[in-house]
Amino acid sequence: MSANYDLHSHSLASDGTLAPGALLRAAHDGGVDVLALTDHDTTDGIAAAAAAAGELGMQLVPGVEISVSWQAQTIHVLGIGIDPASAALQAGLSGLRDFRDWRAEEIGRRLARAGIGGAYTGARALARGNIVSRTHFAHFLVEQGHAKNVREVFRRFLVHNKPGYVSGKWAEMEAALGWIRGAGGLALIAHPARYRMTASKLRRLVGEFRECGGVGMEVVSGSHTRDNIQTMAALCRNEGLLASSGSDYHGPENCWIKLGQLPALPAGCTPVWESEHWPMQ
Ligand code: AMP
Ligand code: MN
Ligand code: MN
Ligand code: MN
Repeated sequence: MSANYDLHSHSLASDGTLAPGALLRAAHDGGVDVLALTDHDTTDGIAAAAAAAGELGMQLVPGVEISVSWQAQTIHVLGIGIDPASAALQAGLSGLRDFRDWRAEEIGRRLARAGIGGAYTGARALARGNIVSRTHFAHFLVEQGHAKNVREVFRRFLVHNKPGYVSGKWAEMEAALGWIRGAGGLALIAHPARYRMTASKLRRLVGEFRECGGVGMEVVSGSHTRDNIQTMAALCRNEGLLASSGSDYHGPENCWIKLGQLPALPAGCTPVWESEHWPMQ
């Protein structure tokens, strides 16, 4: 039996709902052997996660999920096996968090204009001193009775053309990959099927990503359907990219994503953890 890998997860350090230690215990209970903690634009949870992994006899892969702006879209790039002590990485992430802080206030102002007061303060309180994500706004709006669940908040308030939407000015692709590679990590395109790109645009994305030193993409993801998995597996094979697998777990509230239960990578894909690039030797 090969080990159970999950290379994409979130803790309270970004928009997950479990503290890093509790996340590692949940992953352990689910049968995960190797977990990457990949919080949005921060590595704050990694030290606590590594300590918990040590106690549980698991392997923690230090990671990050970087927000990138590419062709007027937001793309998520995973940095896997990064050294969180890298000064250039930290400087880059710090700039993204500054944008997040400004954006959170702007989302609050826009929601106020749409008749929803207190959203910035509410979201900031839910973030408990960590980065503020749209997820925190979504939880606050559900709490306040503006929608029945998080998905509905996104659909009605937080996406393009809706009252609380603020367009992203995130990292350039080349910069983000520079930070990841400079920190000894490997760069992967996160949940490629989520971007709803045409096949040709997705190939352009892969082409640029590769020129910047990217080596792989998520084929199996908590947010991919079975069809998405097959499509991305074919793209990966055609483009000679490595394949990764990650739940994108944010906590037990999202009951449709269970830790340790990802489907296997389709035949013909080279798993990133079996490649010469795998940074966790
Ligand atoms: P942000 O990086 O602050 O813009 O927030 C993005 C996060 O919001 C993603 O990482 C997801 O966790 C969450 N998210 C995005 N779209 C949706 C959606 N339609 N329903 C639920 N959560 C979403
Ligand atoms: Mn998230
Ligand atoms: Mn993502
Ligand atoms: Mn994620």
